[in-house]
Amino acid sequence: MLLQNEIAIITGGASERGIGRGIATLFVEQGARVAILDLDGETARDLADSFGKEHRGYPCNVTNRDEVEAAISSAVQDMGSPSILVNNAGITQPKRIAEITMEDYDAVLDVNLKGTFLCSKTVIPHMRNAKKGNIICISSVSAKRGGGIFGGPHYSAAKAGIIGLTRAMARELAPEGIRVNAVAPGLIDTDITKGKLTPELKAEIIESIPMKRIGLPIDVARACLFFASELSSYVTGEIMDVNGGMHID
Ligand code: NAD
Repeated sequence: MLLQNEIAIITGGASERGIGRGIATLFVEQGARVAILDLDGETARDLADSFGKEHRGYPCNVTNRDEVEAAISSAVQDMGSPSILVNNAGITQPKRIAEITMEDYDAVLDVNLKGTFLCSKTVIPHMRNAKKGNIICISSVSAKRGGGIFGGPHYSAAKAGIIGLTRAMARELAPEGIRVNAVAPGLIDTDITKGKLTPELKAEIIESIPMKRIGLPIDVARACLFFASELSSYVTGEIMDVNGGMHID
């Protein structure tokens, strides 16, 4: 098992068919104890209970500093110091630039970018004390190729911001034994599109993917496992594409 004795905090893990749940499930299979933080605290708790009593779920809005600090402090008290953080919570909106209101902009930037910043900032002191840690951020192919799949320009900007934040944190924290990496998924079959991805658009996208299929949460989870484990012991500041060849750079 690759994550024996590790304690992993995973944000946005409650969604039934989501990437966060896929990551939590794989991490538990690999021996980690997981804390799931989500807006939907009840489902996060139920999911943790289904994994076993050593796992926990907490309600948390990643955009709210008090809630992030409270949830992470509860996780530390209940489980011990986290050695892994996966910044997975995110939202998207299929809007063109002219349609994006300031509320839309704030919502998308806050959950994706500010949430990643706040959760990292709160977890880092614990990792510093232990001189060990792994932070994994979830960007998107939209950051690299300028959208064009589902999310609007504000989503591309937030996910590109996550790449900059990942690289800067990686450089700053490497001397302290903390590695920071990111995964940039292509289109993954989850409910983030809230039914707005039409079968026609889906078919069009599949046609443009060299591997001729949409990704699954487990595809992203396996990349996160690589970064969370010693398999990537000399890797930091890396952004890994998980997109079936949709974008290659
Ligand atoms: P999802 O909608 O299935 O799950 C997102 C989860 O985040 C939900 O459980 C939701 O409750 C939670 N969440 C939303 N706002 C939150 C907040 N403010 N605080 C705490 N939790 C919050 O989405 P998904 O497809 O599993 O996406 C997971 C991550 O992967 C996101 O960052 C997303 O941007 C990214 N991503 C997804 C795709 C894709 O095609 N599905 C592609 C690239 C990147």
